[in-house]
Amino acid sequence: MPDSSAQRLLGWFRSSARELPWRTPFPRDPYAVLVSEVMAQQTQLERVVPTFQRFLERFPSVRDLAAAEVDDVLHAFSGLGYYRRARLLHQAARAIADRGAWPTTFEGLRALPGFGSYTAAAVAAFAFGGIEPPVDGNVARVTARLDALPLILGSGPLLKEGRLLAGALYTDAGTPEVWEALMELGATVCTPSSPTCRSCPLASGCAGLSAGTPTAFPLPRVQRAREQQRWAVLWVERPDGSVLLRRVDHGTLLAGLWLPPFAVLTEGAAALDAVRDLARENSFDGTLTRAAEVKHSITHRDIRVLPFVGAARDTRVGEARVGSSWQQPYAPGVGVSSLVAKLARVCARKSPAESEE
Ligand code: SF4
Repeated sequence: MPDSSAQRLLGWFRSSARELPWRTPFPRDPYAVLVSEVMAQQTQLERVVPTFQRFLERFPSVRDLAAAEVDDVLHAFSGLGYYRRARLLHQAARAIADRGAWPTTFEGLRALPGFGSYTAAAVAAFAFGGIEPPVDGNVARVTARLDALPLILGSGPLLKEGRLLAGALYTDAGTPEVWEALMELGATVCTPSSPTCRSCPLASGCAGLSAGTPTAFPLPRVQRAREQQRWAVLWVERPDGSVLLRRVDHGTLLAGLWLPPFAVLTEGAAALDAVRDLARENSFDGTLTRAAEVKHSITHRDIRVLPFVGAARDTRVGEARVGSSWQQPYAPGVGVSSLVAKLARVCARKSPAESEE
């Protein structure tokens, strides 16, 4: 009797899957599942693995995370971007600590801060034996291609089809490993623009491949227009290489992170005028020099960042303002946006090696 799709998928996964620190035998630690799932959202796994390991060393349990200050949690997330998920992870840890135990059902987990259907299903399945299939973008893409479904990525109908496929595979395999295998197939073989169908364990039953147009499925989402912004940035540095940062308290995307003082420029506004205002607000009256422009993107925003550099010899610079801190740009002790490292490359007088001395 020929192998079923589920068996071929599992066989492929067991021989080809990437080794990842959270892929331990079932049932898994729900805390490790949650942290890995949150970090893997919108982020390449090469960057997730070292951050995941450092994060679990720093906060070994959900209680440790709940007891931490949000600044420390954001710091531990530095470099991954999308910091809203770090704040929600922290809130979820506090909610779990408050109730004294993890909810063990899909519905109970779904009620926690930051738990969408996918995260709730993944934690329930991998840690508590839940049977609600977790359907992420990878599963949705494989589903659309296998059945040549002209459905839109991220749409309700495609999610429903994904659940049906994942449910059928589970019925055959009897282990949530088959769901992890399906996600891995989408992440490494059935990739968005160049699927390697010759390596695919499901190729013999794939309607998209038979039609000769696998990448025609699923249909793309309608793209949201990207917003263009210009920012003026004040980069003030002390002789020891530390730079003035301020805690962002406006807007939701970067709130709670630390950045050099900056202003979002309105159309036609002069960057130098804005940066002079920033200098006054931070008690800096030295010379300012324009540094090279930096490009930075935050979700749907593309930002032209215009930095102005000054040397702070007066120790009162920045001291009068609440939410200010002097930090080494290559080794900050607070949670910073990845923009700080980009700015340091064009503004800082010390190289990373010199800063670590
Ligand atoms: S055969 Fe190709 S298109 Fe079909 S599921 Fe496999 S990788 Fe994707």
